[in-house]
Amino acid sequence: MNTEIISVGTELLLGHVTNTDARDVSEQLAKIGVNVLYHTVVGDNPGRLAQCIEIAKQRADLIITTGGLGPTCDDLTKDILAKSFGLELKRDEAEYQKLYDYISARHAYTENNTKQAMLPEGCTVFHNTCGTAPGCAFEKDGITVIMLPGPPKECLAMLRESVVPYLRKRSGEVIVSHSVRIFGIGESGVDDIFADEMNHMVNPSLAPYAKEADCLLQVTAKASTEAEAEAMCLPVIDHIRDRLGEFVYGIDIDSIEEAAFALLREKHATLAFAESCTGGEAAKRLTDLPGASTVFKGGVVTYTNEAKATLLGIDPDVIETEGAVSYEVAAEMAENVRTILNADLGIGVTGLAGPDGDGVHEVGTVFVSLATENETFVKELHLGSFRTRSFIRRMAGNHIYDMLRRYLSGLSVL
Ligand code: ATP
Ligand code: MG
Repeated sequence: MNTEIISVGTELLLGHVTNTDARDVSEQLAKIGVNVLYHTVVGDNPGRLAQCIEIAKQRADLIITTGGLGPTCDDLTKDILAKSFGLELKRDEAEYQKLYDYISARHAYTENNTKQAMLPEGCTVFHNTCGTAPGCAFEKDGITVIMLPGPPKECLAMLRESVVPYLRKRSGEVIVSHSVRIFGIGESGVDDIFADEMNHMVNPSLAPYAKEADCLLQVTAKASTEAEAEAMCLPVIDHIRDRLGEFVYGIDIDSIEEAAFALLREKHATLAFAESCTGGEAAKRLTDLPGASTVFKGGVVTYTNEAKATLLGIDPDVIETEGAVSYEVAAEMAENVRTILNADLGIGVTGLAGPDGDGVHEVGTVFVSLATENETFVKELHLGSFRTRSFIRRMAGNHIYDMLRRYLSGLSVL
């Protein structure tokens, strides 16, 4: 199915509101393997909306609109779509009753509300579980049309609860998708290894996906049953694991801290953090995970030399001679916080997140360290002087969790 999303709303054209509905629709459709070819944005203007629909009819067989289903006079999506497909709008009695009861329980019912229950004849109604205006779907002239409400919460809920099941049922196919999470080899490295396969594979398909400081491969298969689709994905995932080995940190997990957290729990190991340039972000990422208290002892943010000396007991002479951003200071941060908090493992991180440098190191220079009972590992990173503070902090955190998961799974840490 080739899809065009038409987002209706003058506020989108003026830049007052970001078109998050189109993103949500695209994201949900991608998960079930439906191709989105076009995003169109048009104001609340009958003539131009009608024009957009005519264009979409020429190039898409699934048209999804967002916005303009409400009670006010600028809400005209249903009117224009019904006209364009030669359908009448009829009052849906079930929706009308729900609407009437809901509104009249709160304030006087005004007749313009009835507009929300006026739906194209013969359509499938999508009840709105977060608001009042229902959405709907119909098929005419070989084209499927789906209309969704504009408010993002309502739009996303309807997508998940109604649209995805509706499209799944119609296609008679099951789509299964798995993400292989990768760290330590960049997007271009992954592309270099798999480019040929990615270009040729159709079902299952293999696609790279890069987010800020993150990289994954998405394996997607379509089949008539879930078991069949799963069976198609499996050899591809095995193949990726074979090729990338220890760079693969997990399948279908959200982040590298989740991989490290699972291992910490499995090994009953506890952890303490001493952070400088990451400002507590690395520890926060662990505490974002439910159950973190089983492994996380605590952490300190020691930003100044004074804090490093006072709170962590790092020798001021070492800071003076080596510099705060150094191998030695990173090592001591991890070792000392481990001892002070009586943890099995200590983490240290010190570096330059920029944009200002220290006159010695390039921005993006970060030392991350992991102290265990018997040894201390320190990694010197050069994350790029052109990078943003947020990227440098995020990436430093990724390296910390990568060192942890490597150590805990018996791989070489450095
Ligand atoms: P309502 O019943 O609230 O009138 P509606 O379906 O008629 O809903 P609109 O009137 O077009 O939708 O938009 C309602 C609100 O939803 C807008 O004020 C806007 O903030 C938000 N909205 C509309 N379209 C989008 C979009 N594409 N992305 C994000 N937000 C949107
Ligand atoms: Mg509206």
